[in-house]
Amino acid sequence: MEQSVINELRAACGDMTTEQEELLLYSFDATKIKQMPDCVLFPRSTAEVVAAVNICARHGIPITPRGAGTGYTGAAVPIQGGVVMNFVKMNRILKIDLDAMYAEVEPGIVNAELGRELAKHGLFYPPDPASLKSSTIGGNVMTGAGGPAAVKYGVTRDYVMGLTAVFMDGSVVETGIKCAKGAVGYDLTRLLVGSEGTLAIVTKIRLKLAPLPKAVVTAMTVFDDRRAAVNAVTEILRARLAPRTLEYIDRTAIRCVEEYLHAGLPVDAGGMLLVETDGDFDPAMREMEAIKAVCEKLGARSFTVARDNAEAQSFWKVRRSISVSLNRLRPTKINEDVTVPRNRIGELMDRLDELSRRTGLPIVNFGHAGDGNIHVNVMTDASNQKEYDLALKTVDEVLRITLELDGTLSGEHGVGLVKMPYIEKELGKSCVEISKRLKKAFDPANILNPGKIFP
Ligand SMILES: Cc1cc2nc3c(=O)[nH]c(=O)nc-3n(C[C@H](O)[C@H](O)[C@H](O)COP(=O)(O)OP(=O)(O)OC[C@H]3O[C@@H](n4cnc5c(N)ncnc54)[C@H](O)[C@@H]3O)c2cc1C
Repeated sequence: MEQSVINELRAACGDMTTEQEELLLYSFDATKIKQMPDCVLFPRSTAEVVAAVNICARHGIPITPRGAGTGYTGAAVPIQGGVVMNFVKMNRILKIDLDAMYAEVEPGIVNAELGRELAKHGLFYPPDPASLKSSTIGGNVMTGAGGPAAVKYGVTRDYVMGLTAVFMDGSVVETGIKCAKGAVGYDLTRLLVGSEGTLAIVTKIRLKLAPLPKAVVTAMTVFDDRRAAVNAVTEILRARLAPRTLEYIDRTAIRCVEEYLHAGLPVDAGGMLLVETDGDFDPAMREMEAIKAVCEKLGARSFTVARDNAEAQSFWKVRRSISVSLNRLRPTKINEDVTVPRNRIGELMDRLDELSRRTGLPIVNFGHAGDGNIHVNVMTDASNQKEYDLALKTVDEVLRITLELDGTLSGEHGVGLVKMPYIEKELGKSCVEISKRLKKAFDPANILNPGKIFP
């Protein structure tokens, strides 16, 4: 990028860096796909964003918006260089409307920080990606993030009431509503949610809030047989029970976490479920008893309800340690977040077991089973080209199987770069064409997060 343009950007948006060591920090996300930007801007207001957009539009410079860079798809990687626009300095809570039950926030606020503030008012914002201690609301909105509580409360998309969006012609648009419902015009808010920073830059977000449940009951249940663990997910929901969390941990994940944590986990088990209910204490407890009865009927070896918060946190520690513990199997993990109808999780698992046997590569499965959203991890070694090629072919198979089971390629992480080659298989040619036309209407010069989503 020419020095004169850098000078223009510096004047428009005072906070910026061109230092190579700092640029490196903004060159990758959780995928480790890497591309250096030319500079990183840290805007403090919508006006600064607009000023920077106008300069980039004039010079045809790519802009990649970025939250915390925890994404699993490469969506925040500046794959064509140019400007990274990071929202760490736009991280304020602007308003909490206690009566209308919404919050207005800047995109850079971290999910858990918002949660802490809302709790002081007896409120909560339910979408809880496992990355909630580091990922930003802006990133959550732009990926359509989900989390363990989605089985009861839904995902980010269900909570965004409105946005302030900066478009690539420099215009600023307020979308959405401030009341409980609305039906006027196209729903631009929902179009922008999950658009992975390719249609507009978001500078303010209005989020619907819910009453903070008075109690959360947490339990861990262990099954000898993997099929029984998976069936329990379907049966709990078929019994019309409403868990807040229904997370599955497979046999290999249990073994890896035990090697990592030495927590005394049952390494001979076929699978485990982490279950939560919430609400007033007595009803939440009764709901958990009913879930226990379903699990015991299916042959659960044990069902342990946490006695206190410390024990509940120890169950969560197991769940949260899975990702980091898997490198015991192979150094490289290809992490997919496929989703299938809940009653087909069993079929998915059977076919993945068969795939793992056929390829000889470990496939570890865990995640938000209550939504049918399973994190399928194909384990390999990227330094061994032959094995890595086999792993990529295995991922193709995983995605093919998912679509055969009426599933979707991503339940929450989005497309970014990593799922790009596959989207036509799910969406079809016409849908991709219409989507590309939308992108063109919003960003005719293709400067906003170019090279993402569409092949
Ligand atoms: C350990 C771990 C656990 C995870 N668990 C979950 C999980 O349970 N559920 C889940 O859904 N995801 C999960 N993720 C993935 C990731 O945390 C989410 O995708 C998250 O929403 C990304 O937020 P971020 O702030 O890091 O955004 P980034 O990764 O920085 O960006 C994500 C996308 O948002 C765009 N963007 C960011 N800010 C703006 C803005 N202001 N305007 C326009 N576009 C913008 C970026 O361009 C990019 O396309 C996990 C990741 C890790 C590392």
